Amino acid sequence: MAKGELWDNRLHFLLPASYQDTLFGQVYIQLQATSPLQIIKRDSTALVLIGLLMMFASYLLAASVEKRFSGPILRLVGFLEHISDSQQLRQRITTHENNEFGKLYQEVNTMLERLDQSQKELQLAAIAFDTPSGMLITDANNQILQVNQAFTQITGYSAHECIGKTPALLKSNRQDYTFYQDMWHQLNTHHYWSGEIWNKHKNGKIYPEFLTIQPVLNEQQDIVNYVAAFIDLSQQKSAEAKLEYFTLHDALTGLANRKLLTETLEQQLSPTTSGALLCFDLNNFKLVNDSFGQESGDHLLLQVAHRMRSQLKDADLQVRLGADEFALWFNQLSAQPRLTALEAEGLAERVMSLMTAPFFINDQPLSCSASVGIAITTPSEPISAALLIQQADSALHQAKQTDSSQTAFYDAKAASVAREYIQLHTALRQALNNNEFCLFYQPQTNAQGRVIGAEALIRWNRPEQGLVSPLHFIPAAERSGLILEIGNWVLQTACMSLRSWQESPSTRGLTLSVNVSTRQFYQEGFVDQVKLALQNSGANPRQLKLELTESLLADDLNRVVETMKALVDLNLQLSLDDFGTGYSSLQYLQRLPLHQIKIDQSFIKDMLNSHSKNEAIVRTVLSLGEAFGFEVLAEGVETLDQLKFLQQLGYCQFQGYYFCRPIPQDQFLDYCKQYNYTPS
Ligand code: C2E
Ligand code: MG
Ligand code: MG
Repeated sequence: MAKGELWDNRLHFLLPASYQDTLFGQVYIQLQATSPLQIIKRDSTALVLIGLLMMFASYLLAASVEKRFSGPILRLVGFLEHISDSQQLRQRITTHENNEFGKLYQEVNTMLERLDQSQKELQLAAIAFDTPSGMLITDANNQILQVNQAFTQITGYSAHECIGKTPALLKSNRQDYTFYQDMWHQLNTHHYWSGEIWNKHKNGKIYPEFLTIQPVLNEQQDIVNYVAAFIDLSQQKSAEAKLEYFTLHDALTGLANRKLLTETLEQQLSPTTSGALLCFDLNNFKLVNDSFGQESGDHLLLQVAHRMRSQLKDADLQVRLGADEFALWFNQLSAQPRLTALEAEGLAERVMSLMTAPFFINDQPLSCSASVGIAITTPSEPISAALLIQQADSALHQAKQTDSSQTAFYDAKAASVAREYIQLHTALRQALNNNEFCLFYQPQTNAQGRVIGAEALIRWNRPEQGLVSPLHFIPAAERSGLILEIGNWVLQTACMSLRSWQESPSTRGLTLSVNVSTRQFYQEGFVDQVKLALQNSGANPRQLKLELTESLLADDLNRVVETMKALVDLNLQLSLDDFGTGYSSLQYLQRLPLHQIKIDQSFIKDMLNSHSKNEAIVRTVLSLGEAFGFEVLAEGVETLDQLKFLQQLGYCQFQGYYFCRPIPQDQFLDYCKQYNYTPS
């Protein structure tokens, strides 16, 4: 019985017993069989125990699984909650686990890094967006999505007022349809547009801006947004406008300047133009500037400009060329040359009469005439802008030369005179620097023929030309103002000579007359200049005689008298030169603190001519001098007859070629030794 058999509730086995293939016998095994219920009954306690053990084991297993899996997840959740609360994207979660959780944590950290990076980029973008330039972003349909703070400042529109609308909100209508058409064309083809554009502020004010527009493209190269940036050009424009204004206008008067005149003429002159350019200046301006100061000079110029603006409105351009030189351009005059000239002359007369009406300086009326130079252009004689200005300039120069008429049309001769004048001015300045001036002395004698004094007369020792008479350069020096420096040099040199004359008995008591030009006299500080020349030289003021001319009296007599008195207070003497040729009136004469009058040589010249009335004048001047208590000197005495006649009349001071021509100092000293002065 190899298989087991069950009976009697027992399991019976009969097994063979063998060793190395040798059968020894059989083994009989009997096993008691038990039912499951019996088993349960028998082992229930053990089963309960086993169940409990299993529950405990599964608890332990669950706890370990919980520790192993949900812990890291909960930690991660807590960490993310903390990130979300604190918004600190820079924090990272750490783990030493080298498993799926380690990888998960790493992924979370990478994600945080990206978030942090993009947050920084966003912040940067926000900063970039919040620039002083106005910025707006639109969608592809040009609807505004976003604007920055500067946009609101420049346009006046807040974000919520413009988001959803199109930039047409800002349209000023200064740009036409084609402008925008070109702009869109450029944007769509080149993906960029920039330029100046006029837009309208919310308050209605139109302002210039510099605008740049760029589309934003997606991966398929479709436009998804437009980004526009702009700056307000209002201030820059107004600065530019100001700059342009000052480059084309005179800063003091606001009139056009030479540049604008040239530009205007260049634009307007054509072969069919007939017009006139009038240049004028004020005859007394330099005097006003020298005597009342620059501020008063400016005030006078402003009054001139005002008159031009208000009363010469019909001029096409009113210009200040410089100093006291003004110009008026009249276009569209009559096309016939003769009529153009006539019209131009009429205009010049208007200018003259306008400028003759008194101006006011320090509330005092001041008469100030003008000289006008006229240059015209007609279809038969077209001309360039530069030449027209040059011609009007030289015509003005010509007008100033003529005493009678103070208007002059351009002519070629006048032009060469003007050129000469400019050359002379340059040469005079050099002469002053190179010490080319010297003084000659012309003796003045008494009735007995003895020398009583001398007149210092300037000479210009011009290289390669020899001695030049003052008649050839003093008027130019007066016009240019160089006379102030030249006059001061004369004064100082004459005082030094006077001082040196003290050394010799034949010259010790002589007086020395020095010519003073009107501009010099009116110059501020003139009295101090004289005082200084006397002090520096050590000359005796009583022996210095200043020769003034009558032209001086044309202006403010009170001022003239005041300066004369200040000079007399220095103890020097004053003489009125070329008497009888100028403005003297008896009323004036009696107010002037003069020592001497010098009757002009023109009266002496033909006094002996039987038809001349000069004899009467010569007599009258002498009695006038006696009446006022002035010495009277006759200058220009050339002949013995003239001398005898003058002596007969009662004259006792003379100067003229009859005695001696003006001579250099060394010759003068010899002359004095010969015709010795004997102090009375
Ligand atoms: P003035 O002050 O009337 O000077 C007299 C002028 O008459 C001098 O001319 C003199 O040479 C000239 N003269 C003298 N006697 C006779 C004569 O018998 N017959 C003739 N025909 N002429 C005579 P000059 O030296 O050529 O000076 C001319 C003018 O230039 C002066 O006239 C004066 O107004 C001016 N001048 C000369 N030197 C100076 C100066 O240093 N300063 C200023 N501001 N003017 C000066
Ligand atoms: Mg003189
Ligand atoms: Mg004279």
